[in-house]
Amino acid sequence: MNESTYQRLRGHLAYLGLSTAAEHLAAHLDDPKASVTEVLESLLSQEVEGTRTRRTAGRLRFAHYPLKKKLADFDFSFQPSLDRKVVAELSTLRFVEDHRNVLLLGPPGVGKTHLAIALGIAATEAGYRTYFTSAQDLVRHLGQAHRDGRFNSKMRTYTGPSVLVIDELGYLPMDAESAHWIFEVVTRRYERGSIVLTSNRGFAEWGQVFADTVVASTILDRLLHHSTVMNIKGKSFRMRAHEDQEVVAML
Ligand code: ADP
Ligand code: MG
Repeated sequence: MNESTYQRLRGHLAYLGLSTAAEHLAAHLDDPKASVTEVLESLLSQEVEGTRTRRTAGRLRFAHYPLKKKLADFDFSFQPSLDRKVVAELSTLRFVEDHRNVLLLGPPGVGKTHLAIALGIAATEAGYRTYFTSAQDLVRHLGQAHRDGRFNSKMRTYTGPSVLVIDELGYLPMDAESAHWIFEVVTRRYERGSIVLTSNRGFAEWGQVFADTVVASTILDRLLHHSTVMNIKGKSFRMRAHEDQEVVAML
C-alpha cells in the first residue's frame, strides 16, 4: 500500500472514531501473509474490544459502586446457610432479563452488600446499565430533588438502569415522606427493572421500618411478586477477622 493510501485509510478510521483500529493499522499491514479479510477482522475485533472496555468503564463510573466486590471472592464455605445454586442461577443474570428482584436479608457482616455489589458489577460487565445507592441516599436525594423542582430527572437515575442496587434498607427508620420515595421507586420499577436490595430487617419488621404497615406491605408486595429472597443466617465475616486476631494475640 502506498503512503498516501495508508494516510487516507488512517484518516478514515480516525474520522469514524475507530481510534484503536487506527492505532494498530500499521502493525497489521506489516504482515504480508494476512488476507484483506483477516486484516479487517483483526482490526475491527481490536476496535470492538476497546469499545467494550471503554463502555464498561463508563457504566461502572455511572453506577459508582463503593467497593469492587466479585462473586468469585465470596467464600461460600463460610456461609453455609446460603444456597450456592441460587447465587449461581443469579449470576447467569436471567433475573435482569426477567425484571426480577433480589432481596438479601440478614444480620450485619454476612455478605449482603458484597453479594449485591457483585451481582451489580456482573450485570454492568455484561452490558447492563446499573446504579448503586444506599436507601438513605435515595430518599435524601429524591426529597431534595422534589424540593428543587428536579424530581423527574432525579427519578430517572433510579428508574433508568436495568438494575438498581438499594443497600441497607432498614438500618434507620423512615418517616412517611421517605417511605413514600421508596414506594415510588419500587412502584415505577415494578415489572420493568430489577432491584437488588439488602436489609438487616426481616419482612415482619418492615412495618416498623416504614412507620406504616400499609405502606410497608404495599412496598413488600411489589418487591416480592417476582423475586429471589436470600435469607442469610450466618456469622459475621467481619467478626471472623476479629476472632483470628484474638487467636493471634493469644499465641
Ligand atoms: P453486610 O452487608 O451483610 O453487613 P458485607 O457484605 O459488607 O456485609 O460484608 C462485610 C465484609 O466481609 C466485606 O468486606 C465483605 O466483602 C466481606 N465478606 C462477607 N462475607 C464474605 C464471604 N462469605 N466471603 C468473602 N468475603 C466476605
Ligand atoms: Mg451491608
